[in-house]
Amino acid sequence: MRQLLDEAAKGGYGVGAFNVNNMEQIQAIMEAARETKSPVIVQASRGARSYSQDRFLYHLMLAATELYPEIPTVLHLDHGNSVDTCKSAIAMGFTSVMMDGSLMPDGKTPSTFEYNVKTTREVVEMSHAKGTTVEGEIGCLGGIEDGHGAGLDGLSHLTDPEQAVEFVRQTGVDALDIAIGTSHGAYKFTKKPTGETLKMDRLIEIHKRLPRTHLVMHGSSSVPKDLQDIINQYGGKLKPTWGVPIEEIQLGIKNGVRKINVDTDNRLAITGAIRKVFAEKPEEFDPRSYLKPARDAMKKVVALRMTQFGQAGHAGDYAPTPLAEMAKRYEGNGIPVVSSE
Ligand SMILES: [Zn+2]
Repeated sequence: MRQLLDEAAKGGYGVGAFNVNNMEQIQAIMEAARETKSPVIVQASRGARSYSQDRFLYHLMLAATELYPEIPTVLHLDHGNSVDTCKSAIAMGFTSVMMDGSLMPDGKTPSTFEYNVKTTREVVEMSHAKGTTVEGEIGCLGGIEDGHGAGLDGLSHLTDPEQAVEFVRQTGVDALDIAIGTSHGAYKFTKKPTGETLKMDRLIEIHKRLPRTHLVMHGSSSVPKDLQDIINQYGGKLKPTWGVPIEEIQLGIKNGVRKINVDTDNRLAITGAIRKVFAEKPEEFDPRSYLKPARDAMKKVVALRMTQFGQAGHAGDYAPTPLAEMAKRYEGNGIPVVSSE
């Protein structure tokens, strides 16, 4: 992933990181990447790893690289909660891991700065020795009730720019997730976000202080109204909600954001497409009759985001560097401090 983000920085674009749990989601992403000629980040959470028993995910990803050899593809661990979780991901073949030490291993309790530095640095040392990239998080995002960061609201633990500089210096992370007011899940904002609720000025300040660190925006689905409407039109009960507007993400990309996490938009697209088939053709019972439209709907959203983030057209810019070669590069730097000069 380090190489892919370095290339994105060179080209001034962002790269979407899309979550997967099953075959249809992986197919949707890879088809969108082929159609738009985009490098891709496929990411799996701990929940996805357990849902897919790890090995299904592993072999589906092998199939993806076999069937789409022209697409530079990263398999990234989303929100690793401990050194051991990251270790098992690397052992399985993930080429990038996130160590989220902003929370304790329960994924709910905010940790101390010292704990975050210590665990993240340990993961960086272990990962870079194998050529694997590391993303860290400083500050805490808001969460959904049963998910990561449960109970926190988006504005209670914003990233302190000074701490961000210190964190990068002490850990040597390749990429940094910062908290600027976004949350995971569909219910991010109760109205279109303003500078009061989405702190883009803070992101810009952090980029000024860490010009060579790749910034990551989590919780960055746009939650478009048309996708909400399809679900509600066919019997769904989503409450009115707002996500992160594309123009704010694009402003982020102009200011050092290289990885943008998108999950909710794809979930909405899939669910809307399935509900539509169920409502319009209640006599259907072949799973393909609703999984195909679901896959197509997700592919459409992913392809659109790839175009909006600017990664479209860049798949052929470079050949992926093998992990062993990346490990040598990291070794040359000692514990590689990405930035902060
Ligand atoms: Zn996240």
